[in-house]
Amino acid sequence: MRNAPASCVDLHCHSTVSDGVLSPEAVARRAAAQGVNIWSLTDHDEVSGQKVARSTAESLGMTYLGGVEISVTWANQTVHIVGLGIDEDHAALVEGLRATRAGRADRAKRIGDNLAKLGMPGAYEGVLPFAGNPELISRTHFARYLVQAGYCPDVQTVFDRYLSDEGPAHEPMQWAKLASALSWIHGSGGVAVIAHPGRYHYTPTQFGALFSEFKDLGGQGIEVVTGSHSPHQYHEYAQVARDYGFLASCGSDFHSPTESRHDLGSLPGLPLDLVPAWQALL
Ligand code: AMP
Ligand code: MN
Ligand code: MN
Ligand code: MN
Repeated sequence: MRNAPASCVDLHCHSTVSDGVLSPEAVARRAAAQGVNIWSLTDHDEVSGQKVARSTAESLGMTYLGGVEISVTWANQTVHIVGLGIDEDHAALVEGLRATRAGRADRAKRIGDNLAKLGMPGAYEGVLPFAGNPELISRTHFARYLVQAGYCPDVQTVFDRYLSDEGPAHEPMQWAKLASALSWIHGSGGVAVIAHPGRYHYTPTQFGALFSEFKDLGGQGIEVVTGSHSPHQYHEYAQVARDYGFLASCGSDFHSPTESRHDLGSLPGLPLDLVPAWQALL
């Protein structure tokens, strides 16, 4: 049983403000054309696309929720926390995101050095035109550059060979603390959601500790249906939502018409017994 198709919700996607390939306005137009009626743009560590996203969404008749996807380090791994219903002008959020972005330029130089040692020189210079926002050079931009330079056939192959968390060119970061990210989201009026939990490589004990700590810090939601989950994982994380009393969220994690497995608004609805995260915000 699924939620009625009348409500088509997509609360996770990216624009050129982070590592997507479409402008915030173009992502809004694509979401509307795909039939989405409740939408959020959730760029990594950056809210400068929010005003255009909101105004375009509302002009197209969609309900808009302010959004962001914050990079967090927890137990030496990266966890992404989506904030929904945030106020992009909230000073502590803006400052926290600025601090979270701060190390990316130096990290990009180190990734360039790693790629040079692997026989791919000039990647730092090469990546710059791919980053729409100079404060937000991500691994995805390097992947696009390496495809264009002919080193790999597609973006996924670059991650599989060089840039995944375990890859030889990856440079780990100390991102924001979980408590900080939640305080910025909550301070700006938003609901915090653990993004794509199925992507993390924690032990069952660590997962339990993450969910408990998140809940103790006031975290309310978890992504159940996301472009990063298999259908089996929809069921697995629906059960986590039930067990912890989390709100459930869903989003395609759309980055690009050619790279993303799932287009905006194309995923199935949430299991009907779960409480949708957006209901707390409308
Ligand atoms: P960064 O914030 O620079 O570490 O880049 C993280 C982004 O890289 C994610 O948001 C995804 O878009 C992409 N990414 C990370 N790991 C993978 C992977 N294994 N396969 C494909 N894309 C990935
Ligand atoms: Mn991304
Ligand atoms: Mn993510
Ligand atoms: Mn994402």
